[in-house]
Amino acid sequence: TNPVFTGLETTIFETMSRLAMAHEAVNLGQGFPDVDGPLDIRETAARALVDGPNQYPPMLGLPELRQAVAAANKRFYGLDIDWQSQVVVTSGATEALNDCILALVEPGDEVILIEPLYDCYLPLVKRAGGIPVRLRVTPPSWALDLAALEAAFTEKTKAILINNPMNPAAKVFSEDELKAIAELCVRHDVYAICDEVYEHLVFNGTRHHPLMKFDGMAERTLRIGSAGKTFSLTGWKVGYITGAAQLIDPIAKAHQYVTFTTPPNLQKAVAAGLTKDEAYYEGLASDLAAKRDRMAGALEKLGFGVLPCAATYFLTCDITGLGIGDTDVEACQRMVKEAGVAAVPVSAFYGGDAPTNFIRFCFCKQDHVIDEAMSRLENWM
Ligand code: PMP
Ligand code: GLN
Repeated sequence: TNPVFTGLETTIFETMSRLAMAHEAVNLGQGFPDVDGPLDIRETAARALVDGPNQYPPMLGLPELRQAVAAANKRFYGLDIDWQSQVVVTSGATEALNDCILALVEPGDEVILIEPLYDCYLPLVKRAGGIPVRLRVTPPSWALDLAALEAAFTEKTKAILINNPMNPAAKVFSEDELKAIAELCVRHDVYAICDEVYEHLVFNGTRHHPLMKFDGMAERTLRIGSAGKTFSLTGWKVGYITGAAQLIDPIAKAHQYVTFTTPPNLQKAVAAGLTKDEAYYEGLASDLAAKRDRMAGALEKLGFGVLPCAATYFLTCDITGLGIGDTDVEACQRMVKEAGVAAVPVSAFYGGDAPTNFIRFCFCKQDHVIDEAMSRLENWM
């Protein structure tokens, strides 16, 4: 028989969520909040389902959402974005990543990826015929080795893909790191694909700095956001790409063949959401920071080596010496089956030669759910 491509694997999020369901575990694996985002946004979507729009919206996205994305770029970062030529609405950041890679990466192009990396980066780059060049950052600081970064750029480098804030490291890139990346991109004429889905989930008063703002980057950066993360509505899958018009044009052409459009009623509601005031965004981050602290404190008491967490939904923990498994995979398998708590083995975020002593817990859960998971762990350990 004609063989099918077997190079794509089931993602760790799917694997762990299935196990969590099978074992009635508290699911602290896949990253999603257990309380839906703002009611007014959901009501706007519900009204739009009844009253419309319900037919294909413009391919680039509803004008009101593109305008709202451009306005948010100005308001939060001082970026001047022309909504008509510099924004594409996508079905989540996942589609945005697909579109950017389809449009930019040709066979033989090198793409620099920072490891640990979000699960879809490697398969997407490889399927496009690109050559992934993995550059590793290590805990607890997860700092970029600037000499290694410089060495990763070659005459074949087409793009660097950066996830800032970074899943699962929960790291926010420093301004010095971003400046170094920007200088190398300019020097080597390289594009930057910036997965910034956690841009508003940054804690302790730190602000997110888009790479796009750095000197020479406006014309070579694609900045990806996700309403799923910004409004705690991960199932909606509404994302957006912002970039220079000459890059958005080929990316929009790729988007035509991936989904063409994204549900218009959800777009309408996200457009309204983006106009929310400072208090909403501050509350989102401070609520999450409190959950981070609640879970981190409990995990530390149990002996986990909890790493610093500056952003995102995730705590990464060292399990060395805990006696819950020889590897992260074994620990997560045992934990979901025996304790009834699902986490994610961090080795899943590596392209090879991964450390096997870290697991990731998702903390965007109600306090009583966090407490229940922690007491299950305490009883088990
Ligand atoms: N990038 C990163 C780093 C993520 O953690 C996720 C998962 N939420 C995505 C992209 C996918 O986002 P979306 O659900 O909007 O497709
Ligand atoms: N981004 C989510 C996480 O890191 C998972 C999204 C998905 O399941 N693809 O947990």
